[in-house]
Amino acid sequence: MAKSSGEGTVIRQYLGHYFVSTVDNEVDCALSTKLRKQLQYPEASPGSRRNRVQSVRRPKVVDPVAIGDRVIFDGGNQGKGMILEVLPRRNKISRQASGSSRKEQILAANIDQVVPVFSASEPAPNWHLLDRMLAIAEWQQIPATICFNKIDLTSEDSAKQVMATYRNIGYPVMLTSIITDLGKESFKSTLKNEISLFMGPSGVGKSSLLNWLQPGLQLRTGEISQVSGEGKHTTSHTELVELDGGGFVGDLPGVKEYHLWGIDAEDIPDLFREFQPFLGRCRFRDCSHIHEPECAIREALADEEISQSRYDSYTRLRKKP
Ligand code: GDP
Ligand code: ZN
Repeated sequence: MAKSSGEGTVIRQYLGHYFVSTVDNEVDCALSTKLRKQLQYPEASPGSRRNRVQSVRRPKVVDPVAIGDRVIFDGGNQGKGMILEVLPRRNKISRQASGSSRKEQILAANIDQVVPVFSASEPAPNWHLLDRMLAIAEWQQIPATICFNKIDLTSEDSAKQVMATYRNIGYPVMLTSIITDLGKESFKSTLKNEISLFMGPSGVGKSSLLNWLQPGLQLRTGEISQVSGEGKHTTSHTELVELDGGGFVGDLPGVKEYHLWGIDAEDIPDLFREFQPFLGRCRFRDCSHIHEPECAIREALADEEISQSRYDSYTRLRKKP
């Protein structure tokens, strides 16, 4: 029998198994020796000289393959295969790997859209967290669509008012409720044929929304497949769930992860869309837009062309990306 080989997307990773989805199949793959050599274990004896020498020679990434990666694999007989090559990534969402060394763990790659999920109440929205997620999306040039859930706990009008800031700066906002079925069809069409990543704190309804959109999934509430667990990367169970209508959805939970790890502070103003018209107009070329005189951003803030809450998020991000 001819050996099958091909190209596919890594949708799940579990204890050294990488599940690759192809057009008509799902293949349980291991890593080739070449890729395996690039594996880094961040928990390895911190500070030992041997560890330091290794980290100079090896790439500073803890796992050569991430969820969403397009890969070339060999084999595929009886659903088993071997990943030979990872194709160049369009984008990636990373965090600093656990452990003391400054290594990168790529949580997801080649994402078509980020969907920050918030609830109108229980829990109340955390705007700074939303601004962090939007900044991550901007940094990687991934489109973002905001989902504002549990609208049954407020009124549609007040939800629209609350979200006007974000709509005005160009982010699409979906108002949803799994209780009243608000927004179901438009949510479905937003996700169709795309690789989407839900982000947001726990309790806002991410698992419920997925079950609501695709009842067959029967995810237990609070147990959506996680792109990154709190635990070590070697044991975290990671997954992109395939939607019946086409497309995949994954979840990137956990507030701790929403840092812009590895960004240059000077690049942060570019991540706030509404700052764009004012950038380059400050008195100082290297203006931080925090304390300098004749700052175009702070003038725009005074003129209410930039909202106080978004500006506050900017200053917090600038101090602690
Ligand atoms: P996750 O942690 O983001 O995955 O949130 P869950 O899906 O576990 O939901 C947390 C709680 O919110 C559960 O008790 C859900 O039943 C509830 N919930 C989810 N969506 C809605 C909604 O649209 N309206 C209301 N009232 N409750 C919701
Ligand atoms: Zn300035």
